[in-house]
Amino acid sequence: ETLLHEYRARTPRSAAAFQRAAAVLPGGETRFITYYPPYPVILAEGHGSRLYDVDGIEYLDLVNNYTSLVHGNAYEPAMQAAAAVLSSGPVFPSPHELQWHLAELLVSRIPSVQRVRFTNSGTEASVLAARLARRATRRARLLLFDGAYHGSAPPLLAGDPDVVTVPYNDLDATAKALTGDIAAVFAEPFLGAAGVIPAQPGFLSAVADLARERGALFVLDEVQSLRNAVGGEQGRLGLRPDLTVMGKVIGGGMPIGAIGGSEELMRLTAATTEGNLAHSGTFNGHLTAAAAGAVTLRHLDAGAIDRLDRAACRLADAITTAAAEAGIAASVTRAGSILNLHLAATAPLDAEQARAAATPALAALHVALLLDGVYTTPRGMINLSTALDADDLERAAQAYAHAFQRLADAD
Ligand code: PLP
Repeated sequence: ETLLHEYRARTPRSAAAFQRAAAVLPGGETRFITYYPPYPVILAEGHGSRLYDVDGIEYLDLVNNYTSLVHGNAYEPAMQAAAAVLSSGPVFPSPHELQWHLAELLVSRIPSVQRVRFTNSGTEASVLAARLARRATRRARLLLFDGAYHGSAPPLLAGDPDVVTVPYNDLDATAKALTGDIAAVFAEPFLGAAGVIPAQPGFLSAVADLARERGALFVLDEVQSLRNAVGGEQGRLGLRPDLTVMGKVIGGGMPIGAIGGSEELMRLTAATTEGNLAHSGTFNGHLTAAAAGAVTLRHLDAGAIDRLDRAACRLADAITTAAAEAGIAASVTRAGSILNLHLAATAPLDAEQARAAATPALAALHVALLLDGVYTTPRGMINLSTALDADDLERAAQAYAHAFQRLADAD
């Protein structure tokens, strides 16, 4: 209550702006996960590691638009590349060299990707991957993991009639559910939205083997994880998926999605193939995204990724130490530069355990961090960017220590 009182007192313009938004946007937002009560701070600008809200308050950005801004806000080289295409036309009905340049980059980085097909979002890419898997196998059903997020459209939603869901990291349940009518298994290298829950060693390669044995495709959703290794997490995990779903970083801050796979499989999407999937989209491979994405990926080399990894490791340690000092049970899960704080002494292994750790205290901690000028997510997820320097990370660690202390004092 004290936190909310302080929050309201500090953000009157956000309150007013949210009210105005809510008069025309259901719930006052455009992405349900970004809402938190009583209203989210309304952001107006971002530069590098900093965000600014409509009340003029500065925040350290530990969200980076849910992983997509790997080099921070308004990353100059990406913005310049996007701006350059505006004056010559950002979209044409014919293919454009910026599209095959970005595709060449993806093909050169990811060994399982020989051909690339662009969409406007990760959601659309997942939908296309599902269509392609169904066509290739002539089967209808998809196997997903509980808590996985592949986008906000059917059939990639738990509860869809053609979807079967099993717990992540549960090989027995996967083997049982992988019957002869499954077209594809969709997996993330770690459960992202459910709380950045890493796969147990060997789990995903066993799932991939099972899928192949039973004639289903193994689809790896690297929409978030592509930022974690030059060739995606699949290289690190020794996987060679039939299809890879991509998005976020590959658009350098602009809307994008893509799928990639072997020439043979991807041929089914080609206009030149008889009986093709007829995949279209007015803005597919938008040139602002193609241009900004290529620069972003070029600057996301092994050195940059290594620095991100080390920063993430230090921050995870600092957060768990701070929680322990305040006497609060907490753990931090991590996959590369993507982290998640859980208010439980042991790290969750699946979505069910993560849900149990997402207590109201986690939401209170989020507000406490905002009051200290640190922008994170209500569910405890943190994504770093190359724009954060050592001082920024130190400041973040101190804010966590202070927020944990406030929580402990309130008990
Ligand atoms: N797949 C994963 C793993 C994601 O994290 C997301 C988005 O958060 C998506 C797919 C959907 O991508 P988009 O938001 O671009 O539709």
